[in-house]
Amino acid sequence: MPDKKFYSTIQVDADGLWVIERLLGRNVPIDPDPVFTIGLDRLLALFWEFRIKATFFVVAKDLESQRKAATLRKIVSCGHEIASHGLDHSYLSRLGKDAVMREISGSREKIERMLGVKVSGFKAPGFAASKNMAGMLEDAGYSYDSSVLGTSCAILMELVSKVPYPKMGMMMAPSCPYSPSRDNIFKKGSSGIMEIPVTAAPFIRTPAHFSYMVLGGEVYASLFRGLIKTSAPKVVNYLFHPLDLIDNFSMDIDKKIHGLNVDSERKLEMARDMLRFLCREREVVTTGELSEILKKDRER
Ligand SMILES: [Zn+2]
Repeated sequence: MPDKKFYSTIQVDADGLWVIERLLGRNVPIDPDPVFTIGLDRLLALFWEFRIKATFFVVAKDLESQRKAATLRKIVSCGHEIASHGLDHSYLSRLGKDAVMREISGSREKIERMLGVKVSGFKAPGFAASKNMAGMLEDAGYSYDSSVLGTSCAILMELVSKVPYPKMGMMMAPSCPYSPSRDNIFKKGSSGIMEIPVTAAPFIRTPAHFSYMVLGGEVYASLFRGLIKTSAPKVVNYLFHPLDLIDNFSMDIDKKIHGLNVDSERKLEMARDMLRFLCREREVVTTGELSEILKKDRER
């Protein structure tokens, strides 16, 4: 009998200020980084409030800062899952096969060694997935991936953020978990990897991505919740970033970074509304736990 429960998994892409600044064409050191330290602390407090265990996708380069490594160890000690977000947040869609393999296996090895955890999940920075990465993930020992976001917003997202999304693949990819082909992560196949895409709401395929919810406001959030309630997918994978709970009123960060002009208290309330919604009717599990549940389901 397949599992009839509904699940939610909460993911955090632990992108620091240097990642965001680089997107804007500026180089800053990886430390100090208020976006990383304060943003992650606020997310931890929020997850504690809802008794949620989340999955944090970590850029291995951040472990070179002792302060950041300490923040990540705190996350581990709170019982959350750690997964990989690459070596230095490079866009895999721009790299050759050897470089993609280095990002995939090198980041896993470094995070496992420095944090003393087992890493079973990967997410390509900026959703800039490499088409043939499922086979590489399987060979490197991963069990799941969350690099896919099957959204119609891919073209708009590229215009806003200049990230090289594999647009056609991304728009046509399934929105529910699937086993991808070893040669094409965007298509169903028979690899041993479980692809757990970040959810796109049905019909209009808007992403379950809190940064977009801040931009779209309450209308976007209500529309998303309504579509999820109506279509009741088995899995909702919801994404946060540390930047999501920070504003520019108490910190001197570039005002041009989107979302910083919205009061962090208001963003915190929006995040609470979303988590309350996800916890009310669904069991919230880490993405690693979810991957195991889905694989057992498939074997039945
Ligand atoms: Zn990222």
